[in-house]
Amino acid sequence: MPLRNEAADIAGEIAELRHAIHAEPEIGLDLPKTQQKVLAALDGLPLEVSTGSGLSSVTAVLRGAGSGPVVLLRGDMDALPVTEETGLPYASRIPGAMHACGHDLHTAMLAGAARLLSARRAELPGTVIFMFQPGEEGYAGARQMIAEGVLAAAGAPPAAAYGLHVTSNRLRCGMFSTRPGPMLAAADQITVTVHGRGGHASQPHRAADPVPVACEIVLALQTLVTRKFDVFDPVVITVGSFHAGTTDNVIPDRATFLATARSFSPEARKALGELVPRLAGDIAAAHGLTADAQYAAEYPVTVNDAAEAAFATGVIAEVFGPEQGETAQFPITGAEDFSFVLERVPGAFVMLGACPPDRDPETAPTNHSAVAVFDDAALADGTALYAELAVRRLGLG
Ligand SMILES: [Zn+2]
Ligand SMILES: [Zn+2]
Repeated sequence: MPLRNEAADIAGEIAELRHAIHAEPEIGLDLPKTQQKVLAALDGLPLEVSTGSGLSSVTAVLRGAGSGPVVLLRGDMDALPVTEETGLPYASRIPGAMHACGHDLHTAMLAGAARLLSARRAELPGTVIFMFQPGEEGYAGARQMIAEGVLAAAGAPPAAAYGLHVTSNRLRCGMFSTRPGPMLAAADQITVTVHGRGGHASQPHRAADPVPVACEIVLALQTLVTRKFDVFDPVVITVGSFHAGTTDNVIPDRATFLATARSFSPEARKALGELVPRLAGDIAAAHGLTADAQYAAEYPVTVNDAAEAAFATGVIAEVFGPEQGETAQFPITGAEDFSFVLERVPGAFVMLGACPPDRDPETAPTNHSAVAVFDDAALADGTALYAELAVRRLGLG
């Protein structure tokens, strides 16, 4: 029976696991309850299972009969600090935590794939590593799992690695999307503090007001984006937090803001790291003030290997039909710590539409929204794609 049909047969159980994880979301690197649910789902399968020491990861290795290559499949498991407002029957029971990015689906689909592939163990010509990862949302859990040896779990390095991500909008349910080259942006954090000298708001000439200087830097960052970067190698800078002062008649000592910087090439990323601190420092100096500007590298660009992206696109077309897959014209400005895996292993990251049928993908709430809904109907196809990518990359099917 095709894996797609087998996945459809166990879709109810995959949804059950997904709902259990969804109702009890955990944030960050320590997800003990989610880890227990994954371990229970894998229990009894012919897997070598190990858990992380610095984070609650689960690594499961399935050794087939042959001594062929190693393929890694990754699903992330963490939730976000969002209070769920969907009203779903399996909605989060934990205020301030929600699976608003759909990682509950990834975890359940990967567990489903582990089950399907375990049943084919005798035919498998190689080895599969299942990487259940905490801490994708800002904690670089993938980097930590790599440090703890996930890429060495099978004894030989993986020849290919694949990750899936559901989206609550943009793609209709069951539609896959990937592309060769940059798939998601690098995401870095800019922290700027302008140091002035406080005083009476009525006598600014006797103080050194950091507020207009910080505002000038915020605006100059947007000019930097358009004047210093190739329009075909774009960057995004968004100031998401700006704080200064306490009341209207006091000039504060300092003003601080935080920004995110997104880029799609190592060159643009390096230029951001050099130009942003210089711009902030020089504008502050022009007004006789100083600025501390930190550029902190967070997640690198998620780069799909061209051959692996083409392979994934081919598998999608063969298994689901060509109309179920698209080659995305542009990368996504979001970021992913699967980038740390793809820096070391050629592979592909694939998006999967999970927009409920009663919503328009163009206007549906985005991932991370308190009202984002991911439809269970995507679960079987996501499970089947994980399993098909592994068996076909190992040379079967
Ligand atoms: Zn997310
Ligand atoms: Zn995510």
